[in-house]
Amino acid sequence: TLDRRLKQVVDFIPKGSVVADIGSDHAYVPCYLVQQGIVNRAIAGEVNRGPMEAAKAQVALIGATEQIDVRLGDGLAVLEADEATCISICGMGGSLIRSILESGRDKLGAVERLVLQPNVDGQHVREWLLDAGFVLIAESIVEENDKVYEILVGERGTETRYSSDETERAWQLMFGPYLLETRPEAFKLKWGREADKLDYVLGQMAEGAQTEALIQKQEEFKTLRDKMREV
Ligand code: SAM
Repeated sequence: TLDRRLKQVVDFIPKGSVVADIGSDHAYVPCYLVQQGIVNRAIAGEVNRGPMEAAKAQVALIGATEQIDVRLGDGLAVLEADEATCISICGMGGSLIRSILESGRDKLGAVERLVLQPNVDGQHVREWLLDAGFVLIAESIVEENDKVYEILVGERGTETRYSSDETERAWQLMFGPYLLETRPEAFKLKWGREADKLDYVLGQMAEGAQTEALIQKQEEFKTLRDKMREV
């Protein structure tokens, strides 16, 4: 069985995909998908030998060595050009997810769906999707063990979700256009905490010498904090 976070992730993987789970660690995602008969072909990519060995052991344990290939390598480099139809990248920072996708653009030819779970900096992932010609088709957010995780799902197509107004679009990229509308409890928890962090920073800043630059930065942070409290 999977934890709540990874359960959300697998729920977004289309049946019958050839799925590549990058940074797979124990290969829990590919193993679950194969065991449940959701996919019959998967690749688990790992850049580190320890987690790669753990993935191999897990795959052997469930008797899925024929269906799941465990490969050692950096990001999408473990894939052939048109091999995967769905890629999942979970449990990393948004900027790492973004750089893995960006360096592996040539491996996205057959990819119909991306399921991405940034631990932080989801904004970077949304920006990349937008730039790379993917539509954000769904977002989800889960709380588990007092941590909050976002799951972002992209598909090829024409993006219409984002506002043409620049300020509005910037907020949508930061908070997520769907989450901003549905405002789940975990979402409010996440941004409430971020606002608390900014309050702390603002408290520190208030004690410094009030230079022009510092005053301006504080105004910026206050706007951001107020927005975080508002959502
Ligand atoms: N995806 C699993 C999950 O969500 O539970 C494991 C997450 S674990 C925190 C992150 C994993 O990504 C680590 O096992 C690490 O070795 C791997 N990783 C980090 N950078 C990577 C890269 N560039 N390519 C492949 N794997 C990477």
